Amino acid sequence: MENIAKNIEKDLDEVRSLEDLERVRITYLGRKSFLSENLRLLGKMTPEERKEQGPKLQAIKEHITRTLDEKKYALEQTSFDWKKDALDISLPGKKSPIGHFHPITQTIREIEDIFISMGFDIADGPEIENEFYNFDALNFPKNHPARDMQDAYWLSEKNEKGEKLLPRTHTSSVQVRYMQENTPPFRIIIPGKIFRHEPTDASHEHTFHQFEALVVGDDVNVAHFKYIAQEFFSSFFDTAIEIRLRPSFFPFTEPSFEFDISCAVCEGKGCSVCKRTGWIEVGGAGMVNQEVFVLAGYKENFYRGFAWGFGVERLAMMKYKIDDIRLFHSGDLRFIRQF
Ligand SMILES: [Zn+2]
Repeated sequence: MENIAKNIEKDLDEVRSLEDLERVRITYLGRKSFLSENLRLLGKMTPEERKEQGPKLQAIKEHITRTLDEKKYALEQTSFDWKKDALDISLPGKKSPIGHFHPITQTIREIEDIFISMGFDIADGPEIENEFYNFDALNFPKNHPARDMQDAYWLSEKNEKGEKLLPRTHTSSVQVRYMQENTPPFRIIIPGKIFRHEPTDASHEHTFHQFEALVVGDDVNVAHFKYIAQEFFSSFFDTAIEIRLRPSFFPFTEPSFEFDISCAVCEGKGCSVCKRTGWIEVGGAGMVNQEVFVLAGYKENFYRGFAWGFGVERLAMMKYKIDDIRLFHSGDLRFIRQF
């Protein structure tokens, strides 16, 4: 029995493959092996002999098993091609990154859904606009400061009619385009990208998005605007929102007003977002100036309507508590992935 340990060492030295190893295992642990035969003899021994021989045989069996396992492990290490054969099923799976809409696109779609539910149509227009639709048709005087280099980027090339071109400074440029093609009554929203020649900071961008709403009919008045705006903001912020109008001036509306909404964060009680006033300024609006109707080809004093515009980024910032408008175009995936 003592020789077994020595012999197995010698036999294992010659083992080169797992098949060789299996042959050695059968020789030493198989049913017909010397060890198995001796283990069977235990049954025929006297209790005294069994008490002496049993633990010895067990120790030898354990030694053989351990030696075979060690050899097997060593063989697997050398014959295994880790690069080709490794499959670690305990590793967590690789997750394919799934994209989603940009937070601005998501916000635009949300805004569109609310207006569509109130019976509005969606209109569209070009991002590169001529001076007529961006300024003249909206009753901007020729010397209006908004036409200045400080507000608009102008393209160096003109179109085939010799008109000056610019990336539109507001979505209001689509108003007259739409009115030339359609007869009231109608209610539309115009979502789109706009461009301003101005320095950027946490609340200003050179490129951002706007929503224009235009409602034209026989007896449209300021109360309609106030009701629709209130319905829209209450739905968008999912809480009751109040609207406050302040007199203002825009060339394409008369009367014109800036409008504020009650702060959705503190519900009008006063907080840091609304600078303790309970109100947040969100956009401009007014009754469509009759001059604009005339420029669109409508009869003067025949229709009445209201127009209003607001920034999409501004609303998204309020809803999701984002403190820097530049994050939207930063391309920073840590920001984008939160939506
Ligand atoms: Zn507040």
